[in-house]
Amino acid sequence: MEKRISGSTALYCLIGSPVDHSGSPAMYNYSFQKLGIDSAYVAFDISEEKVSDAIAAFKTLNIRGANVTMPCKSEVVKYMDELSPAARIIGAVNTIINKSGKLTGHITDGVGFVRNLKEHGVDIKGKIITVLGAGGAATAIVVQCALDGAKEINIFNIKDAFYQKAEKTIENIKKEVPECVVNLCDLEDTQKLNGQIAASDILVNATRVGMHPNEEESPIKDTNVFTKELVVADVVYNPRKTKLLEDAEAVGCTIVPGIGMLLWQGAEAFKLYTGLEMPADEVNELYFK
Ligand code: NAD
Repeated sequence: MEKRISGSTALYCLIGSPVDHSGSPAMYNYSFQKLGIDSAYVAFDISEEKVSDAIAAFKTLNIRGANVTMPCKSEVVKYMDELSPAARIIGAVNTIINKSGKLTGHITDGVGFVRNLKEHGVDIKGKIITVLGAGGAATAIVVQCALDGAKEINIFNIKDAFYQKAEKTIENIKKEVPECVVNLCDLEDTQKLNGQIAASDILVNATRVGMHPNEEESPIKDTNVFTKELVVADVVYNPRKTKLLEDAEAVGCTIVPGIGMLLWQGAEAFKLYTGLEMPADEVNELYFK
């Protein structure tokens, strides 16, 4: 590693808190080295209150780009000179590009989701999608699917604070992507949910249900709603194959595990940093299995 660092090595980083368990430094440093790019990546523990200082430091130190994780994803928005369409609609940023002091904010989670589907042979153009959840991951998915040409998206969420947040997101989508129909429904309304799944091409779980340590839980109790034509995707990646995916696979559905979304959102950030494709197969093998 030390041999790789020179007087002209470009620096990239992760900001957020906590960051000490992040896999991003390993993934990006491996990719830089593999492709012979004179760049290095480190993680900085930055609280929300320190975002302003961190942004000033980017400019002073000419840090070329950064990934942003919780709790800083919304806070960084106000320091951006430009936002990608998805970052503007969502009001959050997970990747910053610094071009001579001009900062552009992107959000790559939704792109990662769409790419993961593509890698499983699924195109979202013209599709009807049911999304369970309205939190961070769900919002990124809904917005990107709308931008990328989904025909209709039905969001189901429990009546918690995320439900109201989804109403605002839908308003923004209606303004920016009026051709995509987006509806919001109560996840407790099982009859409506089952009807909507039957009319959908793709079902996405973007809630925390099924995540470790609650591996035995699935957001879909009645597995009769699965038909083998349905594509079932999960954002949960711990465990790698959730109960939802196991149930759907048993019926013959195409299943799309959440770990691929994580890989491809990182690959998209790498592409924004370098203009190059990340060596995704090797990164997947080394860090995501
Ligand atoms: P969040 O806190 O922003 O949203 C949580 C969502 O889950 C909300 O819609 C909430 O209403 C719903 N929810 C919580 N408990 C529920 C319950 N008992 N029944 C039904 N709905 C419930 O979280 P997030 O950041 O969106 O993360 C959600 C999941 O997605 C986590 O498992 C996270 O690890 C995963 N995730 C994966 C990726 C990826 O790249 N694969 C990226 C981000 C998040």
